[in-house]
Amino acid sequence: MTTTHCPYCSLQCGMTLVREGRALTVEPWATFPVNEGALCRKGWTSTGLRGHRERLTTPLVRDRAADGSRGELRAASWDEALDLVADVLSRVRTVHGADGVAVFGAGGLTNEKAYALGKFARVALGTSQIDYNGRWCMSSAASAGLRALGLDRGLPFPLADVEKADVLVLAGSNLAETAPPAARHLDRLRARGGQVVVVDPRRTPTAERSDLHLAPVPGTDLALALGVLHLVVAAGAVDEAYVAARTTGFDEVRRSVATWWPEQVERVTGIAAAEVRALADLLIGTARAGGRVLVLTARGVEQHSQGSDTVLAWINVALALGMPGREGAGYGCLTGQGNGQGGREHGQKADQLPGYRSIEDPAARAHVAAVWGVDPTSLPGKGRSAYELLDALGRPATDEAPAGPRAMLVLGSNIVVSAPNALHVAERLRSLDLLVVADLVLSETAALADVVLPVTQWAEETGTMTNLEGRVVLRQRAVTPPAGVRTDLEVIAALAERLDAPSTFPTDPEEVFAELGRASAGGPADYAGITYDRIRAEHGVFWPCPAPYADGTPHPGTPRLFADRFGHADGRARFLVTTFRGAAEQPCDDYPLHLTTGRVLGQYQSGAQTRRVKDLPDTGPFVELHPLLARRLGTADGEVLTVRTRRGSMRAPARVVETIRPDTVFVPFHWVGANRLTNDALDPASRMPEFKVCAAAVSA
Ligand code: SF4
Repeated sequence: MTTTHCPYCSLQCGMTLVREGRALTVEPWATFPVNEGALCRKGWTSTGLRGHRERLTTPLVRDRAADGSRGELRAASWDEALDLVADVLSRVRTVHGADGVAVFGAGGLTNEKAYALGKFARVALGTSQIDYNGRWCMSSAASAGLRALGLDRGLPFPLADVEKADVLVLAGSNLAETAPPAARHLDRLRARGGQVVVVDPRRTPTAERSDLHLAPVPGTDLALALGVLHLVVAAGAVDEAYVAARTTGFDEVRRSVATWWPEQVERVTGIAAAEVRALADLLIGTARAGGRVLVLTARGVEQHSQGSDTVLAWINVALALGMPGREGAGYGCLTGQGNGQGGREHGQKADQLPGYRSIEDPAARAHVAAVWGVDPTSLPGKGRSAYELLDALGRPATDEAPAGPRAMLVLGSNIVVSAPNALHVAERLRSLDLLVVADLVLSETAALADVVLPVTQWAEETGTMTNLEGRVVLRQRAVTPPAGVRTDLEVIAALAERLDAPSTFPTDPEEVFAELGRASAGGPADYAGITYDRIRAEHGVFWPCPAPYADGTPHPGTPRLFADRFGHADGRARFLVTTFRGAAEQPCDDYPLHLTTGRVLGQYQSGAQTRRVKDLPDTGPFVELHPLLARRLGTADGEVLTVRTRRGSMRAPARVVETIRPDTVFVPFHWVGANRLTNDALDPASRMPEFKVCAAAVSA
């Protein structure tokens, strides 16, 4: 019997894996506080990939003819595959320079893998070209949190604090479907008289559990937050003492919302002015009565070209009401991927070094270089963000931009399904001299690769994850991996050795974690005081957790942030002005509808794993639309529709529902198709693509 955590989302629900003979079953871990024994159906079926007939157990190599044409993937030995990868990477580096090689990581990798991958890129390859799919998860909230609060930790408090709020605003979160065990906090909050507000263009299962549901036109969420702050200011409900003592910049923000009266919000968002007032009145009345207002954002408002502005605007509302730092109040982000939090702290992001340090900070470079035993001047600088990196692949230099990478190593990411403008991304991948993918199965991205490396899955290896609360948890190996596969850490170490890397790359996860702790010491995300033994004994440890005090007493970790001071050097939060621009693409005669995308309960991310679990419903993609729109299009439930955008098209059956705006269609993104449609317009601050809205046409 092994206690561990679910392989999927950012709750990292605790579970027990029980081995009986060859069978491995999931049992509750009732005392783990995040989920108290509850799991969603993905958690219950998470052993379903074990022994799957599509599981890869031998490396695959694609031969290329002299004219560059690509043959079929064929089985190869590990030595042949790794030698080939190292040879081509070395050649590309020699011909095109270190930035000719790219590395693409994932928000599902353990902290140890994310750390080792960042170190591998900077030390073994010397490339600045590393980023990861977490850029497409919560980077807008991360960017806003850093700028406004001085520190980015998804929830700056334990998840259980949510039920202590008197009013909870869920902006762009479908918690009941994406993280069902967390929805119990909504029910408990309402049971004690609190109220839940959901902002979402669809009436989701979460909205069904709310007291007030506002359904804005996709891409207009920022206007709603500006309008709410306008009403807070107009009502004289600003907590002036809190604003004076704990923040800066409010006067400018106060002036900037002067024209966002409710009728203006209605004109932009489609939400009735009366509903905007109802929301503001609820927040104002709660704050005046000494109650607690909590705003949580998620991908629905973050995956936009103004996603970070929308988060900033909601943080402005929370600050104006004097909430952040109080228990059960303030602002938080519900991260999505399993290690969405830890994945952005340890160096697989283009602009970061371990410990959530900036790669452009000389002191951080010196500290991390010392841990790695290399000269700080040898470390590359900031690279391209995830989509910009993919867009640059295989491109020659121009007057405006340097040449793009010619070779790329991908760990734990199914880019062909999950990237925006996916047809274009697949074309860029095909232009590479070498694409290497490490994965469990032949995902759509692995199928394009020149070399596929079969790696272990979660129950077959040990490593830490950092969940949405900043709680570092330990996934423990429960079963022996099948013969022929290696861990990602072993792959990284083997390649580093072949590339004569000037540093060591341990393969024991606990050893890597100890090194990660040293590299993160003194940084915002300080893990130096966390050990595997402590995680086991304490149900996880919250960062920052610096090294033990001088007398040897361990630091307790930090479940709650911002009680006395924010993360900026002066301890104050920043009010920051945001200006509404709207979505990058607006409906027009050719593309008259809004398209939005999202998740369904039974699948996870690109579906590479969950689509292969037989006990999960694999419905395939569908097009959700309102009966009024269905009538206008002359279509009916189940009829196959074509959805077109400026980037591509897909066909899927109609699902006619009353729960979506009549001007909007929804497609889930777990299958090939949805991201052929989505827009690659980027948020200027976070470089988040606008997954959540673009102009579309639908025909029967
Ligand atoms: Fe796993 Fe997330 Fe479901 Fe929990 S809510 S069981 S972590 S997928």
